[in-house]
Amino acid sequence: MLIGVLGCMAERLKSKLLEEEKLVDIVVGPDAYRSLPQLIDEAETGTKAVNVLLSREETYADISPVRLNSNGINAFVSIMRGCNNMCAFCVVPFTRGRERSRDEASIVAECRDLFEQGYKEVTLLGQNVDSYYWVDPNTNHPVDFAMLLEKVSQISPSLRIRFSTSHPKDITDKVLHTMKAHANICKYIHLPVQSGSTRILQLMNRTYTREWYLAKVKRIKEIMPDCAISADIITGFCTETEQDHEDTLDIMRQSQYEYSYMFAYSERPGTLAAKRYSDDVPDDVKKRRLDEIVKLQNNLSLETNKKDIGKVFEVLIEGNSKKSNLQWMGRNSQNKVMVFDKIENTQLQPGSFVHVLAESCTQGTLMGKIVNHS
Ligand code: SF4
Repeated sequence: MLIGVLGCMAERLKSKLLEEEKLVDIVVGPDAYRSLPQLIDEAETGTKAVNVLLSREETYADISPVRLNSNGINAFVSIMRGCNNMCAFCVVPFTRGRERSRDEASIVAECRDLFEQGYKEVTLLGQNVDSYYWVDPNTNHPVDFAMLLEKVSQISPSLRIRFSTSHPKDITDKVLHTMKAHANICKYIHLPVQSGSTRILQLMNRTYTREWYLAKVKRIKEIMPDCAISADIITGFCTETEQDHEDTLDIMRQSQYEYSYMFAYSERPGTLAAKRYSDDVPDDVKKRRLDEIVKLQNNLSLETNKKDIGKVFEVLIEGNSKKSNLQWMGRNSQNKVMVFDKIENTQLQPGSFVHVLAESCTQGTLMGKIVNHS
């Protein structure tokens, strides 16, 4: 048996794993997966096999992953790797290297192939999808993210498209109008805010202000009033005051997030924040602020769900609901989970689209009934 460690942390842990504790045979960084067969051959001879070099070109184009444990309905396609931003709390620029975008044609071909295999939804993935940029070497024509989205959406009207993650500084009106123009591009944007305080945003090196972020939220809602927005929020970042925390609560209220991923700040070795600032907000203060943020988000999620009662949504069925085999569970375009009773004598199955009337809700789920199916 050979034991290997693969991924972003491999570079940082390599000497500990290989030399100090002699725990593993293979250590492979995120840009060296193509050399796995040679590294395994090497390790089989008894030599420790290591490749943690970061690449400026590797995008894993044309490697189609075998999707183990997939439900056969939702697939994820990487369109780029790495990140050129330098958010002070983030380790990605050091572990995944510079940003590079994948060949547009290979992305579209992979998505088409997934659709032909029966997948109904693809999520285009990247650390910062809105800065996707590819120049076709044959025509010299540049392709930006809006153009890529449009191409993927044209594969079939019955293939749903999602994407993540958007950096607020990079998502453009062109992307928003492309989303609006194509019904199969889901009306949902994950738009990490991280903090509602301009002072903290500057320390985090997020390159936007509170006002700039709020203007972006307003623009999204102007172009697509039905678009759901979620966020990432870090509480207790270095030097965060009560006023900064209040600003975060306020930006959450103003943005009316459908959902948030919320964390207390935890220092990552090697980041700009670890080098420059002291992690000086006490743990009990971080915990209390996180509790307040989570409580507010729970209320916002409930309120936004209540506003959906009485509306009909197209839902992609993903499987049985957690609680009952007599009910289906699926998501609407806004990425909200909907649960509804199955109906007899229909061909409906996971992967089918149905129209569901929302009749009641909790903070995490809309409950309803099927009103139309094909
Ligand atoms: S938080 Fe996102 S945008 Fe910022 S450096 Fe990390 S990956 Fe890049």
